[in-house]
Amino acid sequence: MSKIVIVGAGYAGMAAAAHLDKAGTPFTIVNNHDYHYLTTLLHEAAGGRGPGENYRVPIKEVLRQDSSQLVIDEITGIDREKKVVIGKSGQYEFDYLIYGMGWISEYFGIKGLKENSLSITNLDTAVQIREHIENEFKAYANDGDKRHLRIALGGAGLTGIELMGELLEYLPELCKSLNISFSEVDLQCIEAMPTILPMVAAHLRPYVIETLTKKGGRLRTNTKIMEVTPGVVHLDGGETVEAGTIVWTGGVRANPLLTDAGFNVDRRGRGKVNSFLQSSDDDHIFIVGDSAWAEDENGKPFPPTAQMAEQMGALAAHNLLGLLSGQPMKSFKPRNWGTLCSLGSDVGVGDAFGVPIKGVTAALAKEGSKAKYLWELGGMRLAGNRTKQMMRI
Ligand code: NAD
Repeated sequence: MSKIVIVGAGYAGMAAAAHLDKAGTPFTIVNNHDYHYLTTLLHEAAGGRGPGENYRVPIKEVLRQDSSQLVIDEITGIDREKKVVIGKSGQYEFDYLIYGMGWISEYFGIKGLKENSLSITNLDTAVQIREHIENEFKAYANDGDKRHLRIALGGAGLTGIELMGELLEYLPELCKSLNISFSEVDLQCIEAMPTILPMVAAHLRPYVIETLTKKGGRLRTNTKIMEVTPGVVHLDGGETVEAGTIVWTGGVRANPLLTDAGFNVDRRGRGKVNSFLQSSDDDHIFIVGDSAWAEDENGKPFPPTAQMAEQMGALAAHNLLGLLSGQPMKSFKPRNWGTLCSLGSDVGVGDAFGVPIKGVTAALAKEGSKAKYLWELGGMRLAGNRTKQMMRI
């Protein structure tokens, strides 16, 4: 029997695993935790909308068959020639590998940035941001140093804007609990480009700026971060921003494991795949999710989003079963349901199937997308068990 290994239990790895689990095909999934978390909701955990546990799904709640094996380990390498994945606690031989190890922050070589900023890369770091801000605000209550109340977010893409929206809902509550005036807080999002949110329709961006500004945030465009030293963001033009909390939300790149293992990668470290999602280096390896360099028929790379990842994972598992049973494989032709950006729990912007939406409608659509995802992953049982803890409404 072929040995099938999946590495990474993100959106792509979990979709692949759920597909194989349903088919009763034996496989091993290796992940560094026994849970899957919802990356698209990390800003909620960072902003305190719910405790970290709310955004977790125990992997065994999805993979119910005895034929599905979960191993908790941290993957450190891939030996393509020996067909083995190397972890801190063991080695995992494979005949077929589905690789879904996701992304890390992209620091673009900016001096001091990695060392002196927080980032919203996983559930632990999201919770760490919330705790850090709480400690800074408590420190202000003790020493009155206003730098504790300044928060600088670097980059106004979806991550930066969603985090800002969430913090603008949470910080007034935090201030109230510590007897601090919210008007003393300086939350600024610093963006190098002339516009924010390039992936959202241009006519919706003024709505985002107005909404966040009214709530007390500052959006600064045409302002590039050049360097970060402890507690200080250095901008082009020489201005400095002294902030107790600095969070980098300026971009992502693929987990470096593929680059380190000598795969053919793009400038963001993503592994080249064919239309069936097999690595261009080895057709026994499927690369899925944010680590995959997959292109549409016009040669445009698919963006690293959760909806792409889910569809890639399911297709890789389908194609792998096809390979094993001599059935034809299918090309990756994803559906695009749209992009949704929350600006807090009750407002958002984006598009649903290409139709622009904003306000409560967008917030409701975003809430609905949580239930839809849980349903797709684990059917009625998972959606019934988990939706309530993740939804505000
Ligand atoms: P991004 O690359 O989309 O945005 C980063 C922003 O940081 C850009 O606007 C960039 O101009 C800015 N930036 C880069 N260097 C800078 C500098 N030196 N100074 C100031 N600004 C700088 O990154 P992201 O927002 O983390 O998103 C990553 C991917 O994840 C995207 O594909 C996105 O679509 C996806 N994502 C989706 C959702 C959602 O669907 N709701 C949420 C978060 C992320």
